[in-house]
Amino acid sequence: MSALPVGSRIGILGDGQLGRMLSTAAARLGFDVVIFGQNEDSPASRVSSHAICADYLDKDALAEFSVRTDAITLEFENVPADALRILQDMGATVHPGPRSLEVCQDRHLEKSFAREHGVPTADYWVIDSASDLKAAMAELAGEGILKTRRDGYDGHGQRRVKRSAESMETAFSELSEAPCVLEALVPFQGEMSVVIARSATGEIRAYEPAENVHKDGILHTSRVPTRFGKVVQDEAMAAATQLITALDHVGVLACEFFVLKSGEIRLNEVAPRVHNSGHWTPEACLTGQFEQHIRAISGWPLGPVDRHMDAEMENLLGDDVQRAFGEAGPREAVTIYGKREARHGRKMGHVVRKL
Ligand code: AMP
Repeated sequence: MSALPVGSRIGILGDGQLGRMLSTAAARLGFDVVIFGQNEDSPASRVSSHAICADYLDKDALAEFSVRTDAITLEFENVPADALRILQDMGATVHPGPRSLEVCQDRHLEKSFAREHGVPTADYWVIDSASDLKAAMAELAGEGILKTRRDGYDGHGQRRVKRSAESMETAFSELSEAPCVLEALVPFQGEMSVVIARSATGEIRAYEPAENVHKDGILHTSRVPTRFGKVVQDEAMAAATQLITALDHVGVLACEFFVLKSGEIRLNEVAPRVHNSGHWTPEACLTGQFEQHIRAISGWPLGPVDRHMDAEMENLLGDDVQRAFGEAGPREAVTIYGKREARHGRKMGHVVRKL
């Protein structure tokens, strides 16, 4: 693909905070943005030049979206892969493509894809029935985590499982007996992610890994540098490079890893988009992940990813967003997502702190 000219129109599927930050980064590079989302009054639609609100598989709406844009991307990995295929059939340029989505939408496909490409994951079993779960728990030495194969996010769609029949039954029925994977509980010393970009021209650049702390399954902080050594970090960056290349992915991709006490890594999951654990990059690097994604899908050269400060990103959930005004100090940059309602546990904004 040749580079998009300045002033082109970029379409984004999805209308949350990631779409909002992609939109403002695109606007900074002189692009106009069209959002395709599910809400009339979304964080992303309110900062874009046009918004379409329709079902992701509405063909008329997709046709309008295709006509109004020069390249299309996404901020939400649960957009149906068929929506991307329909757009491609209409002649639209779509990055990333449906393959990246399909692999990353399903925890079984994601892990088997990683293993096929030499990237280790936790031990896991595919669970389609209560008897599958019983058999898998018999093989698993300790506790496990049962996760729905699809549609899980921020700790939703997963339950800890103990060896008792009662625990297994409760977990599976609370997940509506949906197709699941059972993962061995990983005794990690920490968690780390790599945010990496690959452009439409094949150029690849990775940000330095960030160390992540989750609370109740939701990302709490991301910090650079990590406390893990260079060998561990290099291994994670090599694994992320391997995966982005094997997926033929264009855009930003985030790979989350567990770090074992031995220093070995295990892939947890892959997001085919900009990621919460990369929110420190706009402040701490010359090119942030949102701009990098727009560059990648536009066929523009990727920007520099060197870090010019040590940083910690902290999420503001629910009413935390009110506290941010009082707390923002001389070493803090605050971003607020413009969501109308501050529900408990909802991501409302984040702070990047210079360390
Ligand atoms: P996930 O939604 O799969 O990214 O899980 C959210 C968080 O739950 C992870 O970042 C870990 O902190 C924890 N977690 C998930 N899976 C496992 C596992 N297999 N072993 C230990 N902790 C896990």
